[in-house]
Amino acid sequence: MGIDIQRNLSPTGSADSVPQISFEFFPPASDTAGAAMNAAAARLAELAPRFFSVTYGAGGSARDRTSQALAQLRATTGIAVAAHLTCAGAPRAAVLAQAQAWWDAGIRHIVALRGDPQPGEQYQPHPDGFAYAADLVAGLRRVADFDISVAAYPEVHPEAPSAAFDLDNLKAKFDAGATRAITQFCFDNARFLRFRDQCAAAGIEGELVAGILPIVNFSQLRRFAARCGAALPAWLASHFDGLEDDPATHELIAAAIVVEQVRELQQHGISHFHFYTLNRAELSYAACHALGLRPLQTALAS
Ligand SMILES: Cc1cc2nc3c(=O)[nH]c(=O)nc-3n(C[C@H](O)[C@H](O)[C@H](O)COP(=O)(O)OP(=O)(O)OC[C@H]3O[C@@H](n4cnc5c(N)ncnc54)[C@H](O)[C@@H]3O)c2cc1C
Repeated sequence: MGIDIQRNLSPTGSADSVPQISFEFFPPASDTAGAAMNAAAARLAELAPRFFSVTYGAGGSARDRTSQALAQLRATTGIAVAAHLTCAGAPRAAVLAQAQAWWDAGIRHIVALRGDPQPGEQYQPHPDGFAYAADLVAGLRRVADFDISVAAYPEVHPEAPSAAFDLDNLKAKFDAGATRAITQFCFDNARFLRFRDQCAAAGIEGELVAGILPIVNFSQLRRFAARCGAALPAWLASHFDGLEDDPATHELIAAAIVVEQVRELQQHGISHFHFYTLNRAELSYAACHALGLRPLQTALAS
């Protein structure tokens, strides 16, 4: 039994202006958290996303929880799933065995990543491992005909020696067999669009998907963003100024920011948006609704 859902036209009647969407989850660590993820996924599935993705702990930590979450999302929503896979801290054989197990389970899409070292440590490739994500992509290509997404950084990956080096690295990931890149969240649209143009100038023809982070908690984001190499512009901070103890207004502002950001990127030709949901539906759903996405028809099919 599955759920057959069709996407509606936008309120203006134009199918072209409705963005394509996907949603990212992290593997829940408890039954309660699992129930919350499932509830969020059920709500977001109504919007007929292209896929749900599930993150993976560096070095394979919580690997089983990623597999369980993938199976759960697929079985309960019928939406295609993408498995994140990191290569840091693990031998090649273990990484490829995981990929093979997912292929055998029917998973066809992998988000191939290097992963990060433990906090405070410098990245060192595993002696028997894939050193960087481009190497992982090439390894996956030899396992099976996966659809492979990779990460991209409009504001440059924090460890990259230069922006040009990082762009070459992204090109290497496409050349190795990736079909799309999902960007780190970036609140500066002008910066994002310059990056899009730089990718095109570098001969990158694969799809560039804009990673969108609905801001659930701005104070937490401040602590997290620097590690990802993502800047928090002054205008963004001022929007949340004084809302530390006002969650209702915080949420309304956060939704408005997503809508504004996505609309502007759409006007400049970006059509696929990947929402970092943090396992919550409210902000992503509200923003998608404002952007014209509707569950048109929900019919139980046997
Ligand atoms: C969409 C998305 C999803 C993510 N999901 C996860 C997840 O599920 N689990 C998780 O742990 N992390 C995840 N991350 C975080 C990611 O693992 C980190 O950002 C990590 O630091 C880099 O991963 P990468 O795949 O971009 O690495 P790479 O593409 O390998 O690049 C990493 C750095 O190494 C540099 N580099 C590349 N090749 C070389 C070389 N030959 N010599 C020297 N330097 C080189 C690059 O310029 C860059 O600075 C995600 C990030 C994004 C954007």
